[in-house]
Order: sequence, then C-alpha cells, then structure tokens
Amino acid sequence: MSPHATITFREATEIAREIKSIAYNLWWTWNVDARDLFRELSPQSYFRFNHNVIAMFDEISDQELAARLLDPLQMGRAQNVVNQYKEYMAETNTWASRNAKEIIKNGPVAYFSAEFGLHESLPIYSGGLGILAGDHTKSASDLGLPFIGVSLYYRQGYFEQRIGPDGWQNEEVPNTDPKTLPLEQVVNEAGEPIVASVKIGHSDVYFQAYRINLGRVSIILLDTNRDENELHYREMTSQVYGGDITTRISQEIVLGIGGVRMLRKMGIAPSVYHMNEGHSAFLTLELLRELVREKNKTAAEAIRWVREHTVFTTHTPVPAGHDRFSEDLMRFTMQKFCTECWDDVSEMMHLGLVNADNKEEPFCMTVLALKMSRACNGVSELHGRVSREMWKDLYPKKSVDQVPIGHITNGVHNPGWTSSRAYRFWSNLLGKDWHQHLDDPKFWKRIEDSDFISDEEIMALRYVLRRELIEFVRIRLHQQSVRYGTNPGITFDKVLSSDALTIGFARRFASYKRATLFFSDMARAKRILLNPERPVQIIFAGKAHPRDDMGKKLIQQLVGHARDPELFGKVVFLENYDINAGRLLVSGSDVWLNNPRRPLEASGTSGQKTAIHGGLNVSIMDGWWREAYDGMNGWAIGEDNHPDSVEEQDARDAKNLYDVLENQVIPEYFDREGNGIPRKWFKRVRHAMATLIPVYNTDRMVEEYVHKYYINSKKSK
Ligand SMILES: *Cc1c(COP(=O)(O)O)cnc(C)c1O
Repeated sequence: MSPHATITFREATEIAREIKSIAYNLWWTWNVDARDLFRELSPQSYFRFNHNVIAMFDEISDQELAARLLDPLQMGRAQNVVNQYKEYMAETNTWASRNAKEIIKNGPVAYFSAEFGLHESLPIYSGGLGILAGDHTKSASDLGLPFIGVSLYYRQGYFEQRIGPDGWQNEEVPNTDPKTLPLEQVVNEAGEPIVASVKIGHSDVYFQAYRINLGRVSIILLDTNRDENELHYREMTSQVYGGDITTRISQEIVLGIGGVRMLRKMGIAPSVYHMNEGHSAFLTLELLRELVREKNKTAAEAIRWVREHTVFTTHTPVPAGHDRFSEDLMRFTMQKFCTECWDDVSEMMHLGLVNADNKEEPFCMTVLALKMSRACNGVSELHGRVSREMWKDLYPKKSVDQVPIGHITNGVHNPGWTSSRAYRFWSNLLGKDWHQHLDDPKFWKRIEDSDFISDEEIMALRYVLRRELIEFVRIRLHQQSVRYGTNPGITFDKVLSSDALTIGFARRFASYKRATLFFSDMARAKRILLNPERPVQIIFAGKAHPRDDMGKKLIQQLVGHARDPELFGKVVFLENYDINAGRLLVSGSDVWLNNPRRPLEASGTSGQKTAIHGGLNVSIMDGWWREAYDGMNGWAIGEDNHPDSVEEQDARDAKNLYDVLENQVIPEYFDREGNGIPRKWFKRVRHAMATLIPVYNTDRMVEEYVHKYYINSKKSK
C-alpha cells in the first residue's frame, strides 16, 4: 500500500474485525508481529489484563480499532498479521504431510492432560507438566499434525500468589469468565451446547466443553458447571488439582471417561490416545466399555485393541507422586460405571494393581496406564531408567533393562517462549522463518562463528533483556508494597543492576527442587553477592502448593533474605510466577540455576528456555541437563551420580554449587580482557545456542513421538 493511498473506513472495519477474531486463536501468542501489534494497541490494558487480549478488546471499541487502522502504518502492520495468519492456517506442505501421512489418514492424536500451560491469561496449569502439554500442542500445530487436546475447564484456575508483609504466601483465587477468555463453547449443528455425562457414585454428572484454538489444532476443556448438576458436582472442576481425594478421582473420571465421550459426540475418531501422565488413564476403561458393550468384543479382544491405540508418558520419579485410590473409593465412585462392563468392581480393580492377590494394594492410575498402552516413556534418559526400576515388579518375567518404558526427552516451544526482542534478533540474523528450523542442527551450527554473530551483538541483546526483566521486577515489587501499604517511602528504583551478573531461579516450590540451596552457607552466599568488584544478583520466583507449608516456609526464608538490609536489591523474590514472569526471567537471566535432588527432576524444562536468549545453565546433572551438557555449553554442579544419603547429597551439592560459581562462572563473566567484553563467556553462549536450541525443543520432541509412538506399524485392523 502506498503511504498516500487513503484507507476507507469500510476497509479498516473489515481488517479490524479480522484482527479481533485472531485474538481467539492463540496462534497470536507465538507470532511476534501479532503479539507486538496487540500490545501496542493499549499497552496499559495489555499489562493490566496480564496479556488477555479478549479482555483488552472489550475496552477497545470496533470504532476505535477501525479508526486507528486508518493510519497507513498501522494498517500495514495489521494487514501483515492477517496475511501471516491466513498463510499459516492454509499451509498444506507441513512436516506431518511428509512424515505422518498415516495420522492424517487415520485420525488425529487425542492428547489427554490434566493441565495445559498455554498462556498467562489462561490459568489452567500449575507447573511443568502443563507447560509441556501446552508446548507439545503448539508444536503439533506448527508441524501440521492432526491433534486434539483434552483437559478440564478450571473456572477458578490455579491460584495467584500474593506475598504478605510477613513473607508468607497467600493464595488468591481468580474467577474467570469464559466470555473474556479465548474460548468458544462446543456446539452441535443446531448451535446448541454439546452435553455429555458420566456416572459418579449414584449420580449422572453432566458436562459441556469449551474449545481453545491454537493455530491449526485445538484443545477441548470439559466443564461440569451445568444447572442439571448438584452444587458439589458443579464445582468439582473449578480448581486445578483442587479439593480432596474424592474430588481428584471425580475430576479424573470426567477427564478420562468424559473426554472420550465428548470426542465421540463431536464426531472425532482419534487414531491414537496419548495420556500425558496417569490422571487421564480412565480413558482406557471407557474404550474397553465401548468395545465390550457396543461392539460385542470379548474382554481379551478389547484389551488388545485399547493397547494398540494408546500411549502413555510418565513424569514422576517418586512412588508417592502417583495417583492411588482405595478399593472403597473406587467402589463408591465407579460401581455404576463398572457394572456396565464387568461383573464386579474387583475385576476392574485388577487393571490398576501390580499384584492382583494383594488385598491391601490401592488402585494406581500409572499401573492402569502402563497395562493398557502399547508404549510408555519417561521424559529423559535417566528418568526412563528410574521408571524402569520403579515399575519392574509389573513385569516379573523381564529384567530391569527389558521393562518396556523408553524415553523421549522434553523440549520447549521456542517461538512461544522467546521474548519479542530476542525473536526479532533471530529474525534479523537468520531470516523470519528461523523457527521453522528448530529440528535442524546444521541451521544453528553457524552461530558458533563469531564472524556470523559477534560478541558485541549478543552483549547488546543481553543488556536489553536484562533491563526488561529488572523493570518488570521493580514494578511488581512496587505493586506488592502498595497493596499491603508496607514500607511507605521505600523505593524500588535501585533494586537490581543491569551491570550485575543475574542469576535466575524459578519453578514450583516442591521441596526436592531445593530453592534455598544457594543460601545453605550464608557466609559464602554473602561473599558472592556482596563483592563490589564483581556484582552478582539473584532472582527467585515460584508458587508452593496451597497445602505445602514446607514450600511456603522456603518462600518465607527467601523473602527474608531479600529484605535483609545487607542483601536488599541483590536478592529478589518475585511474586506470582506464571508464564509471563517465566518468559521475562528466562530471558533476563544470564545464568539459570537448577539444583534439584538428583534424580527427582524427571526432565525440567525451564533451563531449555534460556539458550535462545543468550543465557547459560548452571545445573545439577539431572533430567535433560545431563544429556545436554557437553563441558562447554554451560556448567554442571557436581558429577553424573549422587550419594544415597540425602544429607550427604545436599551438603555435597551446595559445596559444588559455590565452587562452580566462585571459581568458574563469575570469573569468566567478569573477564573483560577483550576490550570490555567477556569473550570466553560469549563463546560459551554461542556454543550453548548452537547445541541446545536445535535439540531441546518440542518440534524435535513431537517428531520423536510421531516416529516412535504415534505411528503404529503393527496396528491390527
Ligand atoms: C517452564 C515453566 C515451568 C517448568 O519449569 P521446570 O524447570 O521444569 O520446573 C513451570 N512453570 C512455569 C510458569 C514455566 O514457565
């Protein structure tokens, strides 16, 4: 469009309408032009609604939007976004069109997960499991894989964290309105809501579904908040992992059994069912019931069919972390469902037991999932090994090595995690389609060459990203202190410095993640933080589960350190960790710290988000990092092994953490022999980018799932 051509109001109204409809497809969250266009329409509302653009558009009338598009510059940008969206949606030459023809022909992957971390405006996740599910879905869309996600609509979501004046975590429960979220009700041809039901106890529990569109794929969220239901069933799906054990099993009945029923009512026939963690394993019972009751299969035939069509990913390397339900609870909630297929609940019980003769053993969702799927995997090489050991009793005829649990190492969806500045940095350097080459190590190899990308360019980017994080932290701290009216007069303008080496640590406050390890020797921690020649600062964030007082104590300790006058401004606890805070933290931190108790971090993914921003990992040799670390692309804390005693492990890891920081990381960062630039550091950064970006991403991961698990060459007809 020439800059002098006049845009008519009618043209502007048309594009405005298209722009508003794109807000209903989360594709915009991983397209930098769409993201920046939306933000700049109303930076203040965008910030206030935590990037919920549906809520923001409630405040921007059609008239305003159209009027603003009368400006040719704005119109050009809007048109560009609309064109990119249409191109993306219409693309047929995709990775899946070349590599997953069977799935395109036979039906989509149905991916069941109790949580999905998709965007900061949709609080239907609690942590890494959900983030992984969200990133998996976005890559499925990018690769053109037929795919549908299934989860629950948690009206109240996961809580928002508020740190009180005493440093204690308080939980605020948001109440989301589906009308101000990027959701649409799933309806039939007549435009009426599709409603299905499951039996729980003696009741029929009804549920409806909302659809979230993500590029070319979608996720349906089941919601029991229907007038037909008794109040306690209406509220049953309101919180992520909310309520007691009865709520938990009821949620899982709706997710697994209800999920299959909703897919049927929508006319969707998946070619494979993927259970992301055991929460959804009841789906296999519903598939069995369908085959036995509706298709007259024998039990043995039905089990064979279900196994051929189901795959399972386990995420939990501790026995206590797996859902288990007593026989009483199973009878209480599932008796009615059960009698449609089995003569007695005990027959169904057997599917969830390691040892069917053991009267004491509770029903385990992981056991059900393992028994009913054709392929199972852990989420890193070590986690695969730990899982084989943990479940070997289920396979008494096999040696540990033969236990049929493999592994696919987790990744992250880079376009979604890359901050806008870094995104444009890569577009300028590698071309706008850089994110379509995430599975190609050769494409990234040239970054190692300082003629291709200079230290100076990376240094400039690092300063921009650190500045963004620091300003975000200062605003948050200010809001926090205003909310509680504490410390009037205190300013946060001097908190953190953009010249300091910035260490980030953010994750759920599960105790095995050892959030306070850095402070286990206060004298050494202070020596690191208070050296005026080599300024170092550290930022923490993360939520403790509402019932986890131990986790809340750890938060309180960290808040205490942040308020210690000696450390003030150098240690920060950033409240309300979510996807947005996460994106800022992984992009602004120079060092991403990960110090779990080995081997309890099944994979970990937050560290995978840093390489694209020029950050470096300092991590225990656990999960993904022990596969990724090559001696030069970051640092290891300790060795690739651990002592049996937890006390010994904690003490040894703390010492190794201080050693690596004091002797390697900090000196290298402040080695400014090269005209004020840390040359060795940036060589390491370039090497980290080249080795980590093209491997630890969900494009590579989903491709592996397709080849190893989704395409079943042995499937019977
Ligand atoms: C990436 C991410 C996680 C997962 O991080 P881990 O290192 O695997 O624990 C959890 N929550 C949020 C908000 C994230 O962005």
